[in-house]
Amino acid sequence: ATPTAVMVATGIGATNGILIKGGEALEKAHNVRCVVFDKTGTLTVGRPTVTASREFGLHRLSDVLPLAAAVEAHSEHPLATAILSHARYTASGPALPPALSSSGVTDTSWMQRADEFEAIVGQGVRGRVKGREVLVGNRRLMDARGVRIGLGAEEFLAAGELAARTGLLVAVDGQLAAGLAVSDPVKPEAAAVVAALRSMGIRSVMMTGDNWSTARGIAHEVGIGEVYAEVLPAGKAALVRELQARGTCVAMVGDGVNDSPALAAADVGLAIGAGTDIAIEAADCVLIRSNLEDVVTAIHLARATFRRIL
Ligand code: ADP
Ligand code: MG
Repeated sequence: ATPTAVMVATGIGATNGILIKGGEALEKAHNVRCVVFDKTGTLTVGRPTVTASREFGLHRLSDVLPLAAAVEAHSEHPLATAILSHARYTASGPALPPALSSSGVTDTSWMQRADEFEAIVGQGVRGRVKGREVLVGNRRLMDARGVRIGLGAEEFLAAGELAARTGLLVAVDGQLAAGLAVSDPVKPEAAAVVAALRSMGIRSVMMTGDNWSTARGIAHEVGIGEVYAEVLPAGKAALVRELQARGTCVAMVGDGVNDSPALAAADVGLAIGAGTDIAIEAADCVLIRSNLEDVVTAIHLARATFRRIL
């Protein structure tokens, strides 16, 4: 393609909310044979909500949720937002619109302060609140910290995972205290995009740090057959390289900090516009509208630019 054709294509992309960082990205995009999608925030809306919570042992949700929220207040993960609103709701009932509430500000009197905070990649968070050790995260986190998961909690997790919910656990001072089921709906266009890619001869793959059952549920909903779950950020990049090793030109679509190594490793990295700055920086292409249809548009644009001339 001529430099002019590339410039025209880049311009068409930009007016459609697809920012392409240079002609090389566009050229690679016309050869893409495999698209790897992150799950949370990419295939799903990325605004998770807690759909069920349960207390375990002698613990009360009214005590445990504020502790979990105090720790999650320091996390940037989308799951943290879900846990915070659930804790707020449980503590003070539904938030009133500013016009109806007397003070005009959200009531935060129930909030507690965490004195320590630590994010544990792929597992969850740890903190200290009022001298108590608080863990919020998945099964792997509890296993790693020697927290025993009883039969009730196993049942709770299994029920949630069957419905493609992400199951989270809360432990206080080494004892399992609560379970949370979190639901993050699939984007309305996701299934159609996977089908469109297939008709273009492009295979779709899903990759996530979330657990296997939830991952399979979401993949089934969008029509993706090839799934990799419980993958750590470094593993995401390694997987992209593995797919490339079979001689395939691979695109990666993601939004999170944890996706940035994979976005950089891919032949074409596409960042969701609503995603984190780190992902946007690591990518070759930014989808400003955060709509997955633009993955198809970007590849069409690249094909039109390079196939016509070559
Ligand atoms: P994804 O690839 O789905 O974006 P992540 O690698 O960000 O996944 O997270 C993997 C898993 O780690 C989550 O599904 C969750 O179980 C756990 N996790 C990560 N961050 C948090 C958090 N702030 N609170 C609770 N659990 C978390
Ligand atoms: Mg994500």
